[in-house]
Amino acid sequence: MDIDLFINEVQKLGIEVSNDKLQKLEKYYELLVLWNEKMNLTAITDKKMVYLKHFYDSLTLTKVIDMTEIDNLCDIGTGAGFPGIVLKIFYPNINLTLVDALNKRIIFLNEVIKELELENVETLHVRAEEYAKNVREKFDVVTARAVSSFNTLLEYSIPLVKDGKYFIAMRGSDDTDNSLNALNLLNSKKIKAECFKLPIEKSDRTIVLVQKIGKTNLKYPRKFSEIKKNPL
Ligand code: SAM
Repeated sequence: MDIDLFINEVQKLGIEVSNDKLQKLEKYYELLVLWNEKMNLTAITDKKMVYLKHFYDSLTLTKVIDMTEIDNLCDIGTGAGFPGIVLKIFYPNINLTLVDALNKRIIFLNEVIKELELENVETLHVRAEEYAKNVREKFDVVTARAVSSFNTLLEYSIPLVKDGKYFIAMRGSDDTDNSLNALNLLNSKKIKAECFKLPIEKSDRTIVLVQKIGKTNLKYPRKFSEIKKNPL
């Protein structure tokens, strides 16, 4: 996806693109490729593909939620910062928390935050299920792209969401068919699964919008070993 097409497709999502945002994305791309030489951040390094499969893809979250209404957002398993950092570039109003279990990714993210001069972003080297044991009902939106199975992800994420607010999973195909039990146990409901194809290379994407409809029982999330042995 060349830059003109990127701008065009992002505008179709209803998002404003400015020179400042484009410059930040360019810098982010340079850092991603540079750091990828010394640590494994992404398999995609071709510029057009990064703009399509990381930058544009991250912004598709806006298909299901109005980001201008969001105070704080937590991105679980953010990896090299997707979708969290891209959303922060386009919506500087959000207070962003980035969570990842791998410290080397957190070190990279801290560099990106410094170089792009992003404000109100915290990075946490922690497993989501440990974080969610102590931090309850804090966020307007919790999101995760390409992390774990859907039911496992629900158990990590729903405790972090404010009552009445949203968890948004960004996935390839829709794998939410067997999630009713997990949703009920976690006091949440699936509002919709938006299925579409990425422009150009036409791979499948699904964005699942889940609303929390009551406080989460303190027994969730369980320990990682229990979640793995006996998923909800
Ligand atoms: N969200 C990024 C993206 O879309 O490019 C990264 C996806 S990568 C496939 C999965 C990431 O989730 C990895 O960075 C991994 O370290 C992190 N992860 C997996 N399980 C996790 C957990 N329980 N808590 C925190 N991070 C986790």
